[in-house]
Amino acid sequence: MPTPITHAVFSLAAGGAIFRRPMPLKFYLLTAFCAVLADVDTIGLRLGVPYDSLLGHRGLLHSLPFAAVLSAAVVLIGFRKLPLGSPKWWAFLGFFFLIAAAHGLLDTATNGGLGVALLSPFENGRYFLPFRPVLASPIGPRRFFTPWGMQVIASEILWIWMPMALLCLAVWVLSAKNSANTSAKNSVNSTNNIGQPNDTERSCNTSD
Ligand SMILES: [Zn+2]
Repeated sequence: MPTPITHAVFSLAAGGAIFRRPMPLKFYLLTAFCAVLADVDTIGLRLGVPYDSLLGHRGLLHSLPFAAVLSAAVVLIGFRKLPLGSPKWWAFLGFFFLIAAAHGLLDTATNGGLGVALLSPFENGRYFLPFRPVLASPIGPRRFFTPWGMQVIASEILWIWMPMALLCLAVWVLSAKNSANTSAKNSVNSTNNIGQPNDTERSCNTSD
C-alpha cells in the first residue's frame, strides 16, 4: 500500500483540483477519512484474519462496491442538509466515491503484498496494474522510520505527489487564464456600452 499520508495528500490535491475553491473543514476531514479508511483492515492481520480472505488486508474494504457504500454514507450523514439528488449532492457523491475508490486503485500500483479485491464481495480475485512503480509501504509505524520507509516515500513523491502537484498547477493555470479572459470580455462589453441606453432606459423610451 502507499502510506496513509500519501493517500491523504492525493485525495486533498484531487479535492482542490476538482472544486477549485475553499471548502468547509468538514469536507477536507471527510476527504482524508475516505482516503485512508480502507487500511483499517491491517488491524485484522494482527488478529489472525488471513490476508487473502474477504476481510483480509486489501479485501472488501479496498473494493469499489465498498467505496460506493462509504461515499453514500458520507454524503447522507456528513452533508444531510444538502437536498437529496441536487447537483451539489451528486457532485459530492461522485467525489467521495472517486476518493475512496482511488485508495484501492493506488494500491494496485504497488510492488508488494497481494493484489486488491476490487470487485469484492461479488468476486474476490486480487488485482494489480500491469505497471507497478510504487514501492509497497511497510505496515506499522516502527518499520516506517527505516531506509526502506524512506525509499517508499521517495517513490511515492515521484509517482504520486509530483503528478498530483502538476495536475493542480495545470488546473490553477487554466482557471487563472479563463478568469482573465472573462474579465477582459466584460471590460470590452462595458466599454462598448458607454453612452448607449441600458435595458431600463430602452424600455422607458419604447413605452414613450
Ligand atoms: Zn490500502
